[in-house]
Amino acid sequence: MEAFFTEGARVWVREKEQLVPSTVNSCGDGTLVVTTDYGEVLYLQTAEVTRERVYAMHPSSNEGVEDMSRLAELHEAAILHNLHLRYKKDSIYTNIGSILAAVNPYKQIPGMYDPDRVELYSKHHLGELPPHIYAIANECYRCIWKRHDSQCVLISGESGAGKTESTKLLLQFLSVMSQNSAGTPPTEKSTRVEEAIVQSSPIMEAFGNAKTVYNNNSSRFGKFIQLHFSEGGNIQGGCVFDYLLEKNRVVRQNPGERNYHIFYALLAGATKDHKEQYFLAEPPESFHYLNQSGCIKDKSLNDKELYNSVLEALKVLEFAEEESRDMFKLLSGVLQLGNIEFMTAGGAQITTKQVVSNASDLLGLDCFQLSEVLTQRSIILRGEEICSPLTIEQAVDSRDSVAMALYAQCFSWIVRKINQKVKGKENFKSIGILDIFGFENFEVNRFEQFNINYANEKLQEYFNKHIFSLEQLEYNREGVQWDAIDWMDNAECLDLIEKKLGMLALVNEESRFPKGTDFTLMEKLHSRHSTNPYYVKPRLADHQFGIKHYAGEVLYDVRGILEKNRDTFRDDILNMLKESRLDFIYDLFEKVGSRNNEETLKMGTARRKPTVSSQFRDSLHSLMGTLSVSNPFFIRCIKPNMEKNPTVFDPEVVINQLRYSGMLETVKIRRAGFPVRRTFVDFLSRYKIISKNKVSTVGDDKKKNMDLLTKYDKTKKEWQIGKTKVFMKEALEQRLEKDRDEVR
Ligand code: ADP
Ligand code: MG
Repeated sequence: MEAFFTEGARVWVREKEQLVPSTVNSCGDGTLVVTTDYGEVLYLQTAEVTRERVYAMHPSSNEGVEDMSRLAELHEAAILHNLHLRYKKDSIYTNIGSILAAVNPYKQIPGMYDPDRVELYSKHHLGELPPHIYAIANECYRCIWKRHDSQCVLISGESGAGKTESTKLLLQFLSVMSQNSAGTPPTEKSTRVEEAIVQSSPIMEAFGNAKTVYNNNSSRFGKFIQLHFSEGGNIQGGCVFDYLLEKNRVVRQNPGERNYHIFYALLAGATKDHKEQYFLAEPPESFHYLNQSGCIKDKSLNDKELYNSVLEALKVLEFAEEESRDMFKLLSGVLQLGNIEFMTAGGAQITTKQVVSNASDLLGLDCFQLSEVLTQRSIILRGEEICSPLTIEQAVDSRDSVAMALYAQCFSWIVRKINQKVKGKENFKSIGILDIFGFENFEVNRFEQFNINYANEKLQEYFNKHIFSLEQLEYNREGVQWDAIDWMDNAECLDLIEKKLGMLALVNEESRFPKGTDFTLMEKLHSRHSTNPYYVKPRLADHQFGIKHYAGEVLYDVRGILEKNRDTFRDDILNMLKESRLDFIYDLFEKVGSRNNEETLKMGTARRKPTVSSQFRDSLHSLMGTLSVSNPFFIRCIKPNMEKNPTVFDPEVVINQLRYSGMLETVKIRRAGFPVRRTFVDFLSRYKIISKNKVSTVGDDKKKNMDLLTKYDKTKKEWQIGKTKVFMKEALEQRLEKDRDEVR
């Protein structure tokens, strides 16, 4: 087919299955020359140019729109392009109905989060101003009273996409709203709670964040922050839940990554006295736990400043001086532990006696006892103590397990302390903010990825339920006409993981089984699930199993799963820690359960410590319980490139994230449907004030509502009447709300 395009015309060109936004350079002499928006020049034979291959772009795609559901062209490429257009103008936020897409700018955009923006967004309804995270925060806050229920904001995205920054922005906005709330004047208590909640971030980040390849300030734990509001609109209290801190990082880091920030901060910021007392006089390079990865510093991280902000935050949260001191002593003790070295002489022997003595000093342990547990294991069998020497490898493992346990217990203790401090009496309604690791698929995926992806699968289910199923159900129930959209249901995949006799159950069963090994586990997984369409049994690898997640297929390495799931500690090591002279260390371990060694494994369930995955599943279910009674807002964070670069928008990187975030379906469904709905009574009472002089007062609620709606939109394109509810497009609601504000 012959095609003709004018020079400068905006077109879509299909290249390798993808539509690429492009501009026509020239068209003639049998050749169409276009430059794609990603800088490529394409030469196409006009004779071969079909409507499939090249077609003119709709103006809405050319200009960019604030709400994607207003895009006339609805395909992946148009959405991608819209994000790109906006990204180039530093408009990083884009709406999809009430869902917010946020592209990480990797730079400070001037004025973006100034206090006057908070002020501005707090005074406008959703949709009146350009999309912004503050607009979502504001809507969320108002919904407490508009809907009389609790709210939650689910922030998702890959590592480095901007989830934690978004969380902090939400907290900041809500904290200002709380202070300004017109209800009761802010009591001293409530301002203290807000400050404490805001100040808990630097502490949790110092202890729970680290530099990784993907993000210089990567959260290595998941968190759910709940803010409790009074009826008057003040934050009265709060609560933080933490999930799955990555413990391994304390003792081992991949090339180019770092241990938790707090270690470097301590070394950079401690006073001379402290350094001497805590054996910190040496530079970070001299500590095994900090020097394995070849990365000590990063120019985006200021360790000394972080130390000061942690001290400041500890003060605000009223940590006692001894508590802070004990915490820093524990950290110093962990660093000393890492420097304990071994050699073989009829089993592992310690070659660094002074270091053991330093570590014992800092942790209040008996030096001899510490040396013993690190080089031999003792178990009590039928009342008798049996000691056996350890190999160097085993000795290193036991050393590392002490370090990891100390750190992990300390982290949980900090979270408990924060919670004690921010606990409040009154909780009218709450706003919960979830900042949890996104879907992960690495070269090698282990137990951690299995749990993380399971969590994401749960959240996707919630998202699907909310956006898709509930919509469909509601339309059917109300007898409202609309075009149903196919969507990806992940219920079967979740069943495979968590239902009775599912994968989780097998992992737990095998963890309790004294003779269970990673390979017996794999055999069982294969034999029980290989016929499941969501299960993958790799043909070649003999140590992997896979799952077809909603976001793609992931292969997991079975090796190490049982050990990590049991998360057990040798009895003799635990006992030693419980004998610490320091109350702080003693308290940390007082309630820790003992090892599931052969003895305890045989004792049945009574004394069994729950496995890591069953604890995680329980906390996830409890989280889902909270979410299911809350009204959700979704923020989808997007990384524009993998290099943390403030100028590059890599279409491959972005499209991948769009695909598995369900964004495309979301746009379709939003446009096809009527996202706003109110019961007749509710609608009438809310808009009575504007219908006063416009519609007659006779007839039932339904009739009165219809009259008002017809006044606003005769064509009925923007609304429909169901059996009990009014259904509207968001734009119509916005007009109604505006008029309502004006007459009030
Ligand atoms: P995630 O929690 O999703 O892993 P972060 O929130 O830690 O990612 O963001 C990673 C980095 O990206 C931040 O340290 C910051 O440099 C940058 N960043 C994220 N969001 C923004 C934003 N809204 N404005 C400026 N920079 C941002
Ligand atoms: Mg984070």
